[in-house]
Amino acid sequence: MRKVIVVRYAEIGVKGKNRSHFEEILKKNIEMVTGIKPERKWGRIYVDFDWDVDSPEIFGKIFGIQNYSPAFIVELDFEKIKEAAYVLVRKEVESGVKTFKVNAKRPNKKFPMGIYDINSSLGAYILKSFPELKVDVHSPDFIIGVEIRDEGAVVYSQKISGPGGLPVGVEGKALLLLSGGIDSPVAGWYMMRRGIAISTLSFISPPYTGKETIDKLKRLVEKLKEYSSGREIKAYVSPLTSLLEFLKDNAPQKLLLVLQRRSMIRIASRFAKSKRLKALITGESIGQVASQTLDNMSTINEASNILMLKPLLGFDKTEIVDKAKEIGTYEISIEKHLDVCSMFTPKHPATKAKLEIVKEVEEKLKDGIERFEDEAFYSIERIV
Ligand code: ATP
Ligand code: MG
Repeated sequence: MRKVIVVRYAEIGVKGKNRSHFEEILKKNIEMVTGIKPERKWGRIYVDFDWDVDSPEIFGKIFGIQNYSPAFIVELDFEKIKEAAYVLVRKEVESGVKTFKVNAKRPNKKFPMGIYDINSSLGAYILKSFPELKVDVHSPDFIIGVEIRDEGAVVYSQKISGPGGLPVGVEGKALLLLSGGIDSPVAGWYMMRRGIAISTLSFISPPYTGKETIDKLKRLVEKLKEYSSGREIKAYVSPLTSLLEFLKDNAPQKLLLVLQRRSMIRIASRFAKSKRLKALITGESIGQVASQTLDNMSTINEASNILMLKPLLGFDKTEIVDKAKEIGTYEISIEKHLDVCSMFTPKHPATKAKLEIVKEVEEKLKDGIERFEDEAFYSIERIV
């Protein structure tokens, strides 16, 4: 009997040409995570996987998987189907279940037995083999699924929910602006779930930020990598100290925050384009802090010449915190660290920085800003 994981994915929304692209990327991701080359058959993916030996939990983090089942694939022979069901039911009985039902499907119409026949004959066989069990068609403790397909009969007793979403990579790659805070790692997670592979860029301000900041960023990236379906996440840092000092010494204090952010966005857009990344991702959420009023956000956003993805815009802080805890970034994010801008951030930043005024200041300070943005851009370094 062949032991496999049957991977099912939602087909709604995945149409036409996109469909085979989606399936190919999902197959590739499964192979990168498991090291096993999967096989695709009629809207299913089979992975030869000994689920008695290795935990199938790793499939639970591969985006694009709707649900999956540890299963046997056997020949189209009712005796073989019975054998497979016996092994599965025995396992279930060991865990203390009392009731079951059989649920057969028969896409392969050449099989001599009909659905009703399979359900009742297999049910009768199980009842005879395991007298402690009862049939409950409405809310059974477990269901023996039998799918009669061209490639054989697939027999399973569990359907485990996957994480949904789209396979990482199917939408290409974008640049996550990763601070050491709670929000940006969560933003990266949500975009990976929609099929976007990520690289990260973090602005640091040495010597005010040191080795601990780099170490923290590395650990955040490592955590995010658990969700990247085996895909590499390249992490970069850009030292911003000279620019921040220049702005602090020369710009109106009220506008500092917005000016700093506009510079970050310009450097990041330029870097993203140089690496052929399609968009920037940030952890902004409307109204959360001074830089995130609708007015300031639009003034900051204007500095970008590339698509900006902001998956957390509509979330409350508590929701973001809950998600950060769930994915495991929260504990790392709350470690004490020096944020790049904290020592450069004014106490009372403007909450409605007018674009025309900000642009006037930038025009006046043009030489310095360009020079220090260049410096920050050319000093970008890879840390992972
Ligand atoms: P976070 O919790 O992600 O730090 P935040 O609530 O502190 O976000 P802001 O400080 O306004 O909000 O930052 C908004 C977004 O800008 C961040 O989510 C992140 O994507 C980006 N960002 C802020 N600071 C940095 C930085 N030092 N390096 C890279 N990106 C940054
Ligand atoms: Mg922050």
